[in-house]
Amino acid sequence: MIRFYNTLHRKIEEFKPISEGTVKLYTCGPTVYNYAHIGNLRAYVFEDLLRRFLEYSGYEVIHVMNLTDIDDKTIRRSMEEGLSLKSFTDGYIESFYEDIETLNIKKAHHYPRATEFIPQMVEMVQKLEEKKHAYVADDGSVFFKISSFPDYGKLTNLKLEDLRVGQRVENDEYEKEEMRDFALWKGAKADEGDIYWDSPWGPGRPGWHIECSVMSTYYLGTHFDIHCGGVDNIFPHHENEIAQSCAASGDRFVNYWLHNEHLIVNGQKMSKSLNNFYTLRDLLDKNLSPEAIRYTLLSTHYRQKLNFTFESVSDSQKSINRLRELKRRLSLVENIEGDNLEESTSRLYHDFTQKLGSDLNISGALGALFTWVSSVFVLLDKQQLSKDGAVRGLKALETLDHILGVIEEKNPSLDTEIETLIKKREEARSAKNWSLADEIRGKLANMGIILEDTPKGTVWKRGT
Ligand code: AMP
Ligand code: ZN
Repeated sequence: MIRFYNTLHRKIEEFKPISEGTVKLYTCGPTVYNYAHIGNLRAYVFEDLLRRFLEYSGYEVIHVMNLTDIDDKTIRRSMEEGLSLKSFTDGYIESFYEDIETLNIKKAHHYPRATEFIPQMVEMVQKLEEKKHAYVADDGSVFFKISSFPDYGKLTNLKLEDLRVGQRVENDEYEKEEMRDFALWKGAKADEGDIYWDSPWGPGRPGWHIECSVMSTYYLGTHFDIHCGGVDNIFPHHENEIAQSCAASGDRFVNYWLHNEHLIVNGQKMSKSLNNFYTLRDLLDKNLSPEAIRYTLLSTHYRQKLNFTFESVSDSQKSINRLRELKRRLSLVENIEGDNLEESTSRLYHDFTQKLGSDLNISGALGALFTWVSSVFVLLDKQQLSKDGAVRGLKALETLDHILGVIEEKNPSLDTEIETLIKKREEARSAKNWSLADEIRGKLANMGIILEDTPKGTVWKRGT
C-alpha cells in the first residue's frame, strides 16, 4: 500500500490512481528567466523520487512538466537584456535540461512551453467568461471572479468570507492576505513592448496560472492523479489552477496534491529574489559531485525544510562512497561457502519499499539500506559471504539505485581520472614539487578519495 500526504485534505491518504496501473503526474516547472537554483532542483529531485518509486512499484507514470517562458519576470529580464523573449528563454531552457541530466533526474514525457499554448489558453478563458466565472476590465484584461467559485480557498484552507470582493490583483504572485480576483489574461501594456498576442479582448498575454490548467488538461485530461510543486506554489498558483480548471470543466481536477518544503539557507528560503542562491554550476565549480548533490537534495524528507550546508554534501559523498566501496568489495568475492544474503536482501527490499510507501519516508528507507550495508561489510570482513550472496547483494544495490540514482557513476571513466591524478602527483613528488603534489591530494580528497603511500607505491580507496 502506498500513502501520501495530500495537501488538499491535510492528511495522509492511501494512493489509488484513477485508471489502474497508470499514474498521471503534473509537476510545476521552472520559470526560465535565470539558471535554476538548488532550491528549485530540490523540488525536481523530490518529484523524481516520487516518479521513480511509483515506477518501481509497477505503475506506468505519464509525467508532464511545464516551462514558464512567459510571465512578469521573463518579460522584464528579456527586455533588460535586449533579447527577444524566445531567444532569452531558449538559453535557460537548455541549461535547465542540462541540470536535469547532471542530477540524473528522469526526463518528463512532455515539457510544454507556455508560449506554444496561447490559443488553448484563450479558449479556456473564453469558456470561463461564458460560464460567468470571468469578466473583462477596461484595459482588456480578463479576471477570474473568485466569488463565483464557492470552493475557492479549499487547498490553502482560506475562508471565502475574507475575500476582497470585486478587488483585483494584477501580479502573478501575491500573498494570502490579498485574496482577490486574479488575472487570466492581461491586456497589453506599453512597457511590455511587442510581447503580446491577439485575442477576443484585444492584444495581450496570459497570466501565469492559466498555463498550468491548460497544459495539464491538454496532456492528462481534466481529471488526473497527482500534481506537485513547492509549498510556495500552494497559494496563489495552485488554488487558482483549481478554480480555473474546475470552473471551466465542471469536473474534479486533481486527486492528490503533493508539495515539497523549501530548501533554506541561514533560515531563509533560497530564492532568486533574495539573491541567496547557489546554482548547480556554482556547486560543480567547487568540485562537488553531482551524485553527492543529488543525495543531499533527496535524503531529507520532502515535507521538511532542508538546511543546505557544504558539510551535508560532504556527508552525502561519504554515504555514496560507502555504497560504492561495498559494490567494489562484493565484486571481488570468490568464496563458494558462506551466507547467500537471501534472507537479508528480501528484508531489505521489504523495509525499503515499505518506508517509501509511507509518504516517501526516505530517511527510513536509507536507514534500512545502511543497516543492511553494515551487516554485509561485517560478513565481508570475516570472509563469510558466498559468491552467490555477493551477486545477490550487487543486484540489490543495482535495484535500489533505480530509485536512488546515486550509486552508479555517471562518468564511468572516473577511476581513470583518479589514476591519472595519482600518477601526476607521483611525478610532482619525484620532482619535489610539493605544492602541486598537495594540491592534487586535496583535489582527490574532495572527490572522496583517500591516498595511502606504501613502499610499493600509492594505493587509493574511497573514504567511507
Ligand atoms: P519557479 O522557477 O520559481 O517557478 O520554481 C520552480 C519550482 O521550484 C516550484 O515547484 C517552486 O515551488 C520550487 N521552489 C522554489 N524555491 C524553492 C526552494 N527554496 N526550495 C524548494 N523548492 C523551491
Ligand atoms: Zn504551475
